[in-house]
Amino acid sequence: MEFAIDATTRDRIEQARELGEREFRPVGLEADRNAAPIPVGHPFFDRCLARGEGRTRWAGPGAAAGALRKSNVTLTLLIAEELAYWDRGVINATPGPGLPEQSVLGMGTDEQKERYLGPFLEPDRPRWACFAMTEPGAGSDAAAIRTLARKDGDGWILNGAKCFIGGASRSDWILVQATVDPSKGRAAQRAFFVEQGTPGLGGFKIEKKMGLKAYESTSFTLEDVRVPAANLLGGEVRYERRAGFKAAMQTFNAGRPVIAANAVGIARAALDESIRFARDHDLLGRDRVRDRIEAIARRVRKARLVCLRAGWLADQQRANIVEASMSKALAAQVAQEAASVGLELLGLTGGRGDHLIEKLYRDAKAMDIVEGTGQIQRMIIARQLVGLPR
Ligand SMILES: Cc1cc2nc3c(=O)[nH]c(=O)nc-3n(C[C@H](O)[C@H](O)[C@H](O)COP(=O)(O)OP(=O)(O)OC[C@H]3O[C@@H](n4cnc5c(N)ncnc54)[C@H](O)[C@@H]3O)c2cc1C
Repeated sequence: MEFAIDATTRDRIEQARELGEREFRPVGLEADRNAAPIPVGHPFFDRCLARGEGRTRWAGPGAAAGALRKSNVTLTLLIAEELAYWDRGVINATPGPGLPEQSVLGMGTDEQKERYLGPFLEPDRPRWACFAMTEPGAGSDAAAIRTLARKDGDGWILNGAKCFIGGASRSDWILVQATVDPSKGRAAQRAFFVEQGTPGLGGFKIEKKMGLKAYESTSFTLEDVRVPAANLLGGEVRYERRAGFKAAMQTFNAGRPVIAANAVGIARAALDESIRFARDHDLLGRDRVRDRIEAIARRVRKARLVCLRAGWLADQQRANIVEASMSKALAAQVAQEAASVGLELLGLTGGRGDHLIEKLYRDAKAMDIVEGTGQIQRMIIARQLVGLPR
């Protein structure tokens, strides 16, 4: 594995650091204080577009099948870590095709890429898209979803409810995971593009959440929502056995090291706050303080290395399922520990609720929940390494 970071990568990380400090941290703190997501009309989003953010990785119509704008997973992870250092919630608030992009790139027809990713090639305004899997009765057990898709003439009718979906009320379209037969589990799942404004799509309610307040997590309902056959991800032909569920898992597999990198960023921020406080209060000489800080610094480094290995394997086009899950399970835990130790060291200063360490403590927990909880990652690792039965 190559550890060296070249000059270009270092420049990109430095740019992310500068952006994070100047933009992400203040906007994130503002949203946290307001306990509300960054509003759609906020000038922050126009500045994102002006910097060329919010675009798709799809290379555009006529590009060779599978062609993407050049991507480098390791670089993506390093940037994800640096930006999360400044504010993880703001990363998710940033416009772009987001979580479902990977599924559309992997499974979508040419027409679907053009229709749904096309507007993200050179976005004329801040645009978002989102992926809706979770339901009030189906989180970790994604096979248990109940949103029903019923064939109706040349289209489909969708009925159900989704919750905790990132950016749902502001998204141009939502990739909705549904089942054609709840008794058949994963094999019966399909994903549908549901465009904003489609009759029957509604009941948007922004959830209250403990951290990551900069972006909205939203519940909504689908009541007799009619979508044309063309909105079935990949079209009918791609729906050989379990393809719908595979598309969803593709999305999560690609996302795990990114969440891990975000968690490393949060952990680093918590560690820096602890060191700063200990130094300012002349506590670094105390064994108890020094040992706590050393233990966290060591664990942050370990999490970072596992995360980079997951990225490096992906860049070599090699399987990284174990490393992806390991990085997420480990980094999310380290982020929580780092923030918890920080709160302990800061004592009353941290507990008052207006110090960054307290926000990091609230933000860190979500890293263990999103895109597969820590327990689920450990199950995946066990299945791969010691053949735990499914
Ligand atoms: C900030 C945030 C953003 C989110 N964004 C999205 C989004 O954009 N789109 C989307 O679809 N969803 C989203 N989610 C939902 C997220 O994917 C779910 O919260 C997650 O899958 C866990 O589901 P759950 O909360 O229902 O917990 P449950 O599945 O009910 O789990 C509860 C507890 O039981 C444990 N558990 C469950 N099953 C097992 C098992 N088999 N073995 C051992 N332990 C187990 C879990 O680890 C957890 O600790 C988001 C959630 C959060 C917090």
